[in-house]
Amino acid sequence: MPTPTHPTTYWHQLDDGRVQCELCPRACKLHEGQRGLCFVRAREGDAIVSTTYGRSSGYCVDPIEKKPLNHFLPGSSVLSFGTAGCNLACRYCQNWDISKSREFDTLADAASPEQIAAAAVRLGCRSVAYTYNDPVIFLEYAVDVAKACRAVGVESVAVTAGYICPEPRVEFFGAMSAANVDLKAFSEDFYHKLCAGHLQPVLDTIEYLVKETDVWVELTTLLIPGYNDSDDEIHALVSWVGETLGPDVPLHFSAFHPDFKMLLVPPTPPETLKRARQIAVDEGLRYVYTGNIHDPVGGTTTCPGCGAAVVVRDWYDLRQYRLTDDGRCTQCGEAIAGRFDGPAGTWGARRLPVHLAAATSGGA
Ligand code: SF4
Repeated sequence: MPTPTHPTTYWHQLDDGRVQCELCPRACKLHEGQRGLCFVRAREGDAIVSTTYGRSSGYCVDPIEKKPLNHFLPGSSVLSFGTAGCNLACRYCQNWDISKSREFDTLADAASPEQIAAAAVRLGCRSVAYTYNDPVIFLEYAVDVAKACRAVGVESVAVTAGYICPEPRVEFFGAMSAANVDLKAFSEDFYHKLCAGHLQPVLDTIEYLVKETDVWVELTTLLIPGYNDSDDEIHALVSWVGETLGPDVPLHFSAFHPDFKMLLVPPTPPETLKRARQIAVDEGLRYVYTGNIHDPVGGTTTCPGCGAAVVVRDWYDLRQYRLTDDGRCTQCGEAIAGRFDGPAGTWGARRLPVHLAAATSGGA
């Protein structure tokens, strides 16, 4: 049976007969029948179509802290889903079974935007996350789901590498309330050799988000031993964050585990994450976290006003929470950067796989 397709808008015809995609900086030029590097946008006739609209590789209810977002509706649950494919080609991809999927049997669970929004409400989720693979490549589906969610009071969260062109990013992030952007390294060499991409478009996206939108932004850098974990590179990264974005954008350093085409590189030692965090704190960044390890210091939000530990986390669990409903320190009244709306949620660290049909019909 042929793959069902959905029209897209970001492309133009070239004089040589090819059609060029304008969604991401790869700018794939396609002959009839060809697919882009992401594998899920394809030429059909004289247009580029999406081949994954309305289909997912699965749904799961997660803690929002897992995205990771530590300053966006803390303690709440988020309905997460992804599709297939990716527009970067990271040799160490931690989700490669989805991102590199060439088999659409991974897209088992089909759902309309309205069904996903209804499921989020029914499951008590305050937001929906577009994650697992990069939502940039399923822009049309993500935007339609986000609109359906907004209509019923559910927020949208993008987990993305930020590898998107300036025009489509306005539409894409215009539908989002928050984003965790993966800043993979701070060297063009790393992006070129390990991800088959470029650094500058990612920096442009992050700067655009922080300076020109209302989207709440947190950054994540996965530290890979010997590749992006030198003091010099971490200094360069945190200096750029501080000088370009300011001290209030949270930065997460997380641990690599050997995967995909980099099985011989060892996992990141916890000391590396703690060293990176200290460099960032010394540089003046206010909210710096370590991820994928047990680290009480690296999981704590400290009030920049009085130094009190206002949110203490263990992995994805909130152990102490000393903020008012609008995100102020209960001790000194200082506002913590982020989006806060009411008391902290109580979802905890649970991960709950969901079958959408059951969730929307009243089943489990
Ligand atoms: S979105 Fe896909 S088809 Fe379009 S330029 Fe990027 S990799 Fe190529």
